[in-house]
Amino acid sequence: MLTYCTGGIKCEKASAFLLEQGFEDVYQLHGGIIQYGMDVGGEDFEGKCYVFDNRLAVDVNKVNPKVVSTCHVCGTVSDRMVNCANPTCNIHVPICENCGWELEGACSTSCQAHPEKRPYDGTGYYVKKSNGYNPYLGLQRKPNKEKIKNLQHEQDNTCV
Ligand SMILES: [Zn+2]
Ligand SMILES: [Zn+2]
Repeated sequence: MLTYCTGGIKCEKASAFLLEQGFEDVYQLHGGIIQYGMDVGGEDFEGKCYVFDNRLAVDVNKVNPKVVSTCHVCGTVSDRMVNCANPTCNIHVPICENCGWELEGACSTSCQAHPEKRPYDGTGYYVKKSNGYNPYLGLQRKPNKEKIKNLQHEQDNTCV
């Protein structure tokens, strides 16, 4: 059995789980499918690799690429991934270049008419806005010089 993922991290977990479930002969693609494509050309890999950043979908096969998806709106063959411009919908679907401009990056006419619809720049990707939460805030400790001095003093005392 072979597991693979985009960058080679998620399949680590998957293969560990499979081994735990009693499967033998579990392998994983070292470095992930993107690296595999770069190293050996990705021949016979069909479609693109969907990713979670602004690239949305990346090429793997540079030898005999095949488009396996169709436009969500008009049904023509298209591998152009778009994040719907309506933030309350937010769906990621293939939308062809024409439909992208026609619906201004929305996946449907109702999403196009949504009052919160984001402006479409032709990329179909929107930078996530931070809510201001910082998990590292308050975790930084400043060295307490007085405490260090006392510790030093205590150590000196124990030596006596
Ligand atoms: Zn279309
Ligand atoms: Zn939508």
